[in-house]
Amino acid sequence: MRPVILSSGTEPIRYGGIEAGGTKVVCLVGSSPDDVVASTRIPTRDPESTLADVLAFFAGAPAPAAVGIASFGPVELRREHPDYGRITASPKPGWRDVDLVGTVRAALDVPVGFDTDVAGAALGEGRWGAARGVDTFVYLTVGTGIGAAAVLDGRLPTGLGHAEMGHISVPRQPGDDFPGRCPFHGDCLEGMAGGPAVADRFGRPAEQLDGEDLRQALEWEAGYLAEGVRTMVYTLSPQRVVVGGGIAMMAGLLPLVRSRLGEAMGGYGALAEHGAEDFVVPAGLGGMAGPAGALVLAERALAAPPAP
Ligand code: ZN
Repeated sequence: MRPVILSSGTEPIRYGGIEAGGTKVVCLVGSSPDDVVASTRIPTRDPESTLADVLAFFAGAPAPAAVGIASFGPVELRREHPDYGRITASPKPGWRDVDLVGTVRAALDVPVGFDTDVAGAALGEGRWGAARGVDTFVYLTVGTGIGAAAVLDGRLPTGLGHAEMGHISVPRQPGDDFPGRCPFHGDCLEGMAGGPAVADRFGRPAEQLDGEDLRQALEWEAGYLAEGVRTMVYTLSPQRVVVGGGIAMMAGLLPLVRSRLGEAMGGYGALAEHGAEDFVVPAGLGGMAGPAGALVLAERALAAPPAP
């Protein structure tokens, strides 16, 4: 697959970004979303041929100073762990134990940064998108799955791995007897508010709903997301919650989440800022958030390379 040269310039340090998703891998070289000098999209197939295409792209693109990888998971993020840089228990056929960081580092011989796709999107929104200028925020994506990543004082927290905020418990909304779609927890946040949950309840996907079904879907969706955000507010004290993903695009959803958040908090710990229009906001970068965030991961890897 030949890279597409979009523009050429001089001077800024250019990084490589890889957003590895379940259906496609986006690769780019650039210094920011406004300075992308080469990019490509590769369909995600088996790991060998997919990664061969990724490496072929970089072989034909301007050399990056470092590469960042924002990957679907689960992934091993502990740098001291022997499996650091690998996809771990992925149900995606063939991808379990695939060594993303090692493969890219061996081929390109540059520092490689690594985190989840959701964390990458959070970094992208923080640098160039809807969380620009905010140090402590949550990026929440609501689509087929629900994921969220916290950036705290500008950093992605590290511990035993990555948070799984899409799987927190949420109180059942009044009148909703849907059992939930999460194969692990049933009625967790993703199980109740992910795209498949909406489609199963109403027999058609969210974007095809109208009339009373649409009104009810928005009501429940806003209720579950507000409960999820309440937990994030109480545990992480974010200055902002940026919401992306296909379901988040439902017209009128986010204003409803804002008002339901106030009700969910019941006046406890609620600040005027939590009800402001710039607290729960739509994502600013769309599909570019992840690849842009991968550039930030690359920049950070260059500044502080992970131990080999
Ligand atoms: Zn779950």
